[in-house]
Amino acid sequence: MVIVGIDLGTTYSAVSYMYEDGKPRILENQDGEKTTPSVVMFQNFGGDDEPLVGTQAKQQAKLMPEDLVQYIKRFMGDPSWKFDSSTGKSYTPEEVSAIILKRLKTGAELALGKEVTHAVITVPAYFDDARRTATRNAGTIAGLEVVRVLNEPTAAALAYGFSSDENGIILVYDLGGGTFDATLMKKTDDNYEVISTDGDRNLGGFDFDNLIINYVYEHLSEQGIETDDLSAEMEAEIREKAEQAKRALSSVDSTLIHLVVDKKPIRVEITKEEFDQLASSLVKRTIEITEDVLDESDVSWSDLDHILMIGGSTRMRIIKETLEEKSGKELKYEINPDEAVSLGAAVQAGIELVRLSKENADGVEVSEEIISSVEKVNIEDVTSQSLGTKAIDSNTDKEYNHILIPRNSKIPASGGSSFVTVGSTSRISVVTTEGDETDIKYVNILGETDVDLGRVVEKGHPITIKLSYDIDQTIYGEVFDEETDKLLKTFEINRDNNMSATQLKVASKNITDLKIN
Ligand code: AMP
Repeated sequence: MVIVGIDLGTTYSAVSYMYEDGKPRILENQDGEKTTPSVVMFQNFGGDDEPLVGTQAKQQAKLMPEDLVQYIKRFMGDPSWKFDSSTGKSYTPEEVSAIILKRLKTGAELALGKEVTHAVITVPAYFDDARRTATRNAGTIAGLEVVRVLNEPTAAALAYGFSSDENGIILVYDLGGGTFDATLMKKTDDNYEVISTDGDRNLGGFDFDNLIINYVYEHLSEQGIETDDLSAEMEAEIREKAEQAKRALSSVDSTLIHLVVDKKPIRVEITKEEFDQLASSLVKRTIEITEDVLDESDVSWSDLDHILMIGGSTRMRIIKETLEEKSGKELKYEINPDEAVSLGAAVQAGIELVRLSKENADGVEVSEEIISSVEKVNIEDVTSQSLGTKAIDSNTDKEYNHILIPRNSKIPASGGSSFVTVGSTSRISVVTTEGDETDIKYVNILGETDVDLGRVVEKGHPITIKLSYDIDQTIYGEVFDEETDKLLKTFEINRDNNMSATQLKVASKNITDLKIN
């Protein structure tokens, strides 16, 4: 059994492994790189798809933009999203992610010289149930047994803990390619306690690229160029050059973007000052989320002992400058922002290995060094989404979201409430919700389950509904008849937004049959 830690990022992914010496290290991919662009190019070879993953796929983005899939993480858990390749096949977000994971798996096998069978995969802390399940399913389709889906900030803190002995209150500020997470944690020796977390799944480096793209478009319009008429190739070229310009501005004060549009050479200059101005509202949004996370736990900027900067986008100077100003501290990048999450996932992989060896699972070999480095590690995580049920307010007769487990509750968590039937009935329907809002319109419906009460009861009959959230982020519910004290039903959430077991089998077969480069 070989378990790797995988950071499946919006723009880049990385794989790490806990070596026998008890230290996690990053694994290089097939191209000798420590990170792999999460980009898939669907090449059509005689009517068959041969997906190309990573840097080579990214480099060809300009040439064949319609065959390219990027930022797939943003669509995880969305059942309506599909990519239609030129061979006429269509792929779900889980399948596209599985193609990336398979490439990562093969690369890790090459680096380690042995078959990789299991994985810990990280997700943003605020990923909801459908997105977590979709990520787990992507691993399964790729032929990996996913032993744990781990929150990215927790992984980053684990990596930090493995490189430093310092304790204290840690803010993990994670701005990646497509997502933002702010997490407050407390580290006491081997104990990692997540206090609160929040984020925005649609805020990342990609959005900063868009600011520069718009800036370039404005410049082109000023030159009399009709930007609506640009070819897909030119749009892809502008996107690539905008990202390069953004990266350049992390070290220089001004940069040039060169383009040739309609045979006319165009030069667009952008300075750090201009970029900072464009970026100010996105940066402000990350600060607002961070301050909400701090406020929720009555922690102020000055109470923070460490700020961990995670994700490639924290290299933007405006981010560093803003956080330094807010915290009054000089920020050090103590761990590599691109590698930390995958290194932390490898630590978790070590923990899982030790657990499985204690359970006498087949084929587990674990060294004394790994045991001694992880055996005392204890992680206390929290739920990132409130869970509840649909109920009717007896005063207004209106439906509302009744929260049973508030967000940021320690996992495992459970919570129940007492309700009464609105009329005389022999069945009730329990709707499980996810989200903070009281208005049912603004929360996710996770599932609906029908409960047979076993007899006709009068209006006002008392029923208890209890929800539980376990360490593996599985949600299940229980319904009790309060009068008889009887458990009427136990249910697991049937995830309508995720693939069924049969769909998973078909997808695994489809992806196994693909030649992935
Ligand atoms: P991640 O998903 O954490 O790998 O983050 C990748 C994001 O970081 C992408 O949007 C990159 O454009 C961005 N990024 C990487 N390096 C830099 C840099 N030097 N300056 C600004 N952004 C960067």
